[in-house]
Amino acid sequence: MKTVDSYNFAGKRALIRVDFNVPLNEKFEITDDTRIQATLPTIRKILADGGSCILMSHLGRPKDGPTEKYSLKHLINPLSVILGVSVKFADDCIGESAYDQATTLQPGEILLLENLRFYKQEEKGDVDFAEKLSKLGDVWVNDAFGTAHRAHASTAVIGQFFEDRICGYVMQAEIDNAQRILEHAERPFTAIMGGAKISDKILIIERLLDKVDNLIIGGGMTYTFTKALGGKIGKSLLEADKQELALEILKKAKAKGVNIIMPVDNVCADAFSNDANRQIVATGQIPDGWEGLDIGPETIALFEEVVRTSKTILWNGPMGVFEFPNFAIGTDAIAKAVVKATEENGAFSLIGGGDSASAINNAGYGDRVSYVSTGGGALLEYMEGKELPGVAALA
Ligand code: AMP
Repeated sequence: MKTVDSYNFAGKRALIRVDFNVPLNEKFEITDDTRIQATLPTIRKILADGGSCILMSHLGRPKDGPTEKYSLKHLINPLSVILGVSVKFADDCIGESAYDQATTLQPGEILLLENLRFYKQEEKGDVDFAEKLSKLGDVWVNDAFGTAHRAHASTAVIGQFFEDRICGYVMQAEIDNAQRILEHAERPFTAIMGGAKISDKILIIERLLDKVDNLIIGGGMTYTFTKALGGKIGKSLLEADKQELALEILKKAKAKGVNIIMPVDNVCADAFSNDANRQIVATGQIPDGWEGLDIGPETIALFEEVVRTSKTILWNGPMGVFEFPNFAIGTDAIAKAVVKATEENGAFSLIGGGDSASAINNAGYGDRVSYVSTGGGALLEYMEGKELPGVAALA
């Protein structure tokens, strides 16, 4: 696989698939520019070589073509400021005008294309659309790990039209870090799985059972386990049809000698609200009308101890409804414990994207763990052992 470091971009127009799917407020201001910051090294290397950049991305989920709310024009000014270059904009990602702008681009210049998903062909992986996009650059760089699990036109299909297909720095770091966890984990290796549903995480949990020493299970998915084991869970989150599966996971873990650690107490609420009444209840004894929304203090201490002595930590999914400050205590405590293990015990800590990344960033610990992935679904699929179309297209 060609990498950014091994390639000289002098005089080349690099068509880069980036992930600029950033959150915007009602004034179209960026509220979290992590994804833009992540890809700056790739852009800077290309410019420093004497190349030019054509940036293509999606933003949001536009349904019916061009939509003001999802226009990438909102990113022109912030990008120009961050990069210190006046960024040009093509208000259509294909067509004559984009082609003219791209082909007259000079070394050191940057052209941003309008939202790829204004064309339905993007998500359909349309070959003709991919070919039209490919005419805009001399080389294709894929730096959008977050969409690498999708076989879209710009993330995968486009690869066939280029001789030079280059793996961007973000993509490379994501693959390297995931590989380190999967193939070279120092022991004890602890995976912390949280979030809402077992069904979303089952494949990765099964794969991890072959790799980890400890599997901590927290968040909403714990209640399906508790119920399956005969406990009372009140109106906590339940995937009724996954109870058999939960018991099977426990059986497999035992057979493989994996230490499963589950909550022993829970912070319960009488409504799904930050201001609900709260009480701490032992696992399996949640009264009717109450629901578990966070792990309790004894559980925090139990989980902290396991994390403290780990040398490799993979964390995916919050320990509770961390969007409500009153139920974010467990998630914050685990974030702190992961930071401590990283800084004091030299552990390698990888935080899965999506909600776990938001949780650790919101708590202000993003730069105190080993790596925060930019890809939620993509990371999970990579770790499940699936081939990602966006990575395969770089071969
Ligand atoms: P996931 O995308 O599967 O990682 O799930 C993240 C979501 O799980 C977050 O929006 C959390 O609010 C939610 N969640 C975590 N714990 C619970 C819980 N005990 N009850 C309901 N939702 C939860």
